[in-house]
Amino acid sequence: MSYVDEVLAKVKEKNASEPEFLQAVEEVLDSLRPVIEANEEEYKKQALLERLCEPERQIKFRVPWVDDNGQVQVNTGYRVQFNSAIGPYKGGIRLHPSVYIGIIKFLGFEQIFKNSLTGLAIGGGKGGSDFDPKGKSDMEIMRFCQSFMTELFRHIGADTDVPAGDIGTGGREIGYMFGQYKRLRNSFEGVLTGKGLAFGGSLARTEATGYGLLYLTNEMLKTNGIDIAGKTICVSGAGNVAIYAIQKAQQLGAKVVTCSDSTGWIYDKEGIDVALLKEIKEVKRARLDAYAAARPSAEYHDKKAEGSNVWDIKCDIALPCATQNELGIDDAKTLVANGVTAVAEGANMPTTLEATEYFQKNGVLFAPGKAANAGGVATSALEMSQNSERLSWSFEEVDQKLEQIMVNIFRNLDAAAKKYGFEGNYVVGANIAGFEKVAEAMLAEGIV
Ligand code: NDP
Repeated sequence: MSYVDEVLAKVKEKNASEPEFLQAVEEVLDSLRPVIEANEEEYKKQALLERLCEPERQIKFRVPWVDDNGQVQVNTGYRVQFNSAIGPYKGGIRLHPSVYIGIIKFLGFEQIFKNSLTGLAIGGGKGGSDFDPKGKSDMEIMRFCQSFMTELFRHIGADTDVPAGDIGTGGREIGYMFGQYKRLRNSFEGVLTGKGLAFGGSLARTEATGYGLLYLTNEMLKTNGIDIAGKTICVSGAGNVAIYAIQKAQQLGAKVVTCSDSTGWIYDKEGIDVALLKEIKEVKRARLDAYAAARPSAEYHDKKAEGSNVWDIKCDIALPCATQNELGIDDAKTLVANGVTAVAEGANMPTTLEATEYFQKNGVLFAPGKAANAGGVATSALEMSQNSERLSWSFEEVDQKLEQIMVNIFRNLDAAAKKYGFEGNYVVGANIAGFEKVAEAMLAEGIV
């Protein structure tokens, strides 16, 4: 049995009740086979893969808070500090009822390679809670965030672990968490990213993941002789990543015709009106049927009633930007039959392994999330730099750095894929390019 298979078997046995984590580990280790085989003896002796798959630390805690009726509610909080070989732990906080340790571990594991790919000094971590922000009042959100931070603060710090936003955690939640951290520590430091501009946030952080997705997608298309201008794009999601992906795609001359939320989706043949979408999602925090009600060119589809989704619409490029495993094998078959040429993941692991393989077998250019959505964390690291300098850079300066980082990520993963004989396989390229630096640092730092 090869070393990779040995470790995969151990990880499966040890984490049997965490399918998302197993899926992420399997995908990464499988694609690292060529590098591992080239160094098998040393890696095995050092138990490098076993250490890589075991979080350095995982914290689970009670989050009690009082709702508007005076009733005490209890949620579970998590922070997984997965790997600090190349820098302080860095990764978002997800607030969603589906959160459990397996989701946080999968996200933290992916984050190690993503952060390494950015070329910046940040390790991998992730956190969250099974708290559902939907339908909560502003005061309930604040009380939850304060309670969450009242435990988390002792485990994080500007040089230790720097959390950020993710599903359910936006600027408002980061503000409340930062305020509570500052109060508990009596220290104003860059401990969270995605902060408001008035207290250490970075310009362009809000736009960064969506914009970065398009910068990388554009570079991938250009490398393959394709012009993005004039192309039809299907986007899923209607949150932070989706909104700014749509905006940048339009700026690059493409036409985005779909978006979605957890209840339904929009097909707008005239192209999505970003200003209207922002008004509905960022200001009114409403459902997407409000978009169709305000725009005659748009159709609203109820996901459950119709059993349909955005991938049923014919497009050249698909950008899944909602959540994990939202694009399965049947969707992949429909997209390929409709002539899709490129898929780039804005969300984390939105495409199932089976669907990814189907795209690759059918010659579809496929950019994995750990590379394609790294713009958010890269800009978070730029926010950390600005906080350390006590300076703020202009929007243009941050945006230019972001674009350069995304172009470099693509070039590095393209080169890594070629070096190991997997030209055009950007999944393998991203995993190898991300892994090499982390492995080198782990070996140099000894058995820790
Ligand atoms: P948001 O919470 O802003 O938006 C998420 C969007 O996806 C919403 O439209 C939401 O709909 C929809 N969605 C969430 N869960 C589900 C579900 N189970 N089924 C169907 N739709 C769902 O999150 P972000 O845009 O920040 O994040 C989206 C993805 O991108 C996540 O995978 C995240 O980990 C990843 N990511 C985000 C980064 C960032 O900087 N924000 C950085 C890198 C990756 P509804 O409103 O109805 O819940």
